[in-house]
Amino acid sequence: MASRDIARFWEWGRKIICVGRNYAAHAKELKNEVPTEPVLFLKAPCAYVKEGCPILVPRYSTNLHHEVELGVVIGRAGCAIPQRAAMEHVAGYALCLDMTARDVQDACKSRGLPWTLAKSFDTSCPVSDFIPKERIPEPGDVSLWLEVNGVVRQRGHTANMIFSVPYLVSYISQIMSLEEGDLILTGTPEGVSAVREHDTLQAGIHDLLTMTFTVEKRSEVPSSSV
Ligand code: MG
Repeated sequence: MASRDIARFWEWGRKIICVGRNYAAHAKELKNEVPTEPVLFLKAPCAYVKEGCPILVPRYSTNLHHEVELGVVIGRAGCAIPQRAAMEHVAGYALCLDMTARDVQDACKSRGLPWTLAKSFDTSCPVSDFIPKERIPEPGDVSLWLEVNGVVRQRGHTANMIFSVPYLVSYISQIMSLEEGDLILTGTPEGVSAVREHDTLQAGIHDLLTMTFTVEKRSEVPSSSV
């Protein structure tokens, strides 16, 4: 096993816990109710992808969306963490994309099915380099942006989150134990839209970092028929 260097959390972290509809304007653009409790779902760790490798469009989707999000990297394990102690369990952050097969998600929602195919395919979780906690003194004061082919699609600010980072760490830890290396995706601001093969996505945290990914079709044939 790789050494447990928190700056390379994506190589060994075991959970990616995602929060849906955490910005009211985004919930409304997809015609969802604004939640009174966090909406949670998971991605498998094989969803991670780093700069230099492409985001792959699943073969079964024709409407892949970007969602730029602040990711929270857990540095100390815990369960039932009180909100006042939540930040002691945070090692740092990462800029993340919650890539979403929107057509598949819509079909799952209408049939009452889980979102796994829409949210947890290979390369559905592009992440930036690790950002130590000290570089973001207040996770509720972060500006995020995303461009597709140089055109701004998303600009958001974490002050507009419905549920704050300490609240989410505490809430999630009541349901499932948080472990070192886990990543929490805190939801996306409005402006989500489709990307296509050969598009270039650039995203950033104002004054801190940028990251760039290209989009390609997933081309390989399954090794066994399902
Ligand atoms: Mg999302």
